[in-house]
Amino acid sequence: MPPPVGSSVYRGRFAPSPTGPLHLGSLLTAVASYLDARSEDGIWLVRIDDIDPPRELPGASDAILQSLELHGLHWDDSVLYQSTRLPAYQETLDQLIQQKAVYPCTCSRKQSRTERNLYSGHCRNGSFPRRDSHAIRVRFNTSSIGFLDRIQGRCEFLPGIDIDDFVVKRRDGYFSYQLAATADDLFQDISHVVRGVDLLDSSARQIYLMNLLGAPTPQYAHIPVLVNDQQQKLSKQNLAPALDDQQATSNLLYCLDKLEQPVPPEPESAGPAELLQWAAKHWHPERIPASLSIAL
Ligand code: GLU
Ligand code: ZN
Repeated sequence: MPPPVGSSVYRGRFAPSPTGPLHLGSLLTAVASYLDARSEDGIWLVRIDDIDPPRELPGASDAILQSLELHGLHWDDSVLYQSTRLPAYQETLDQLIQQKAVYPCTCSRKQSRTERNLYSGHCRNGSFPRRDSHAIRVRFNTSSIGFLDRIQGRCEFLPGIDIDDFVVKRRDGYFSYQLAATADDLFQDISHVVRGVDLLDSSARQIYLMNLLGAPTPQYAHIPVLVNDQQQKLSKQNLAPALDDQQATSNLLYCLDKLEQPVPPEPESAGPAELLQWAAKHWHPERIPASLSIAL
């Protein structure tokens, strides 16, 4: 039985978007967050970020879960699907509306950009209700958001320079990733977030939302992302090959190597679950490179 929510135990998560099958880049994140949790005898949860149906690929969620299982990455509790959480996101949004922390924005995507290509704040003084179609933005009204990342060190983000008044609900009615991830990390009582460094500025946004909601923030560890020889992050868009689930042990060894972790003697003969168990016992997060990317 997992310890009750609210206890001080480690609770981590892996939150893939079902836009395609797992590839080496997403496996790297899964492995790092899994090992970090298991090395602390923590809970490891899987959440499927399926709040953006136009970007989703039918069957991808099941394929991702199957790949995780075949790699010995077994999760606790049941999988949380963000598509089942829309009423909760609306409640979170209602709280922000009540606090007057958010406002309707009717600008088009290209309108009202600053020189830094951030949103100008054109609609900042508007208020609800509004009948015409609009997005909802949060006023990023703070001197700065700083946090101590376990891998990247001290991080600081400034309004108008790094971060603008970001969207929490889109004009097409979908909730934004920032709002959904914030609501779910709080709902699942996540204590530790381990994910790719491409989400470093998202963490600042999510910390800001958690502050507004009066909630405590998790600890963050942002690992470098795997890039191809054109320095592009591996993703479905640049045709990262799907993982070969039959090569689970060598895929895991590949990730351990990129994370600069030790491997057991005779690693090739271990099954995936056995290898992960060994790796969790010998987990050294401080050895993970603090760079922004690692070459494939
Ligand atoms: N679903 C997001 C992604 O795959 C990341 C979610 C998260 O870790 O917060 O990039
Ligand atoms: Zn606007």
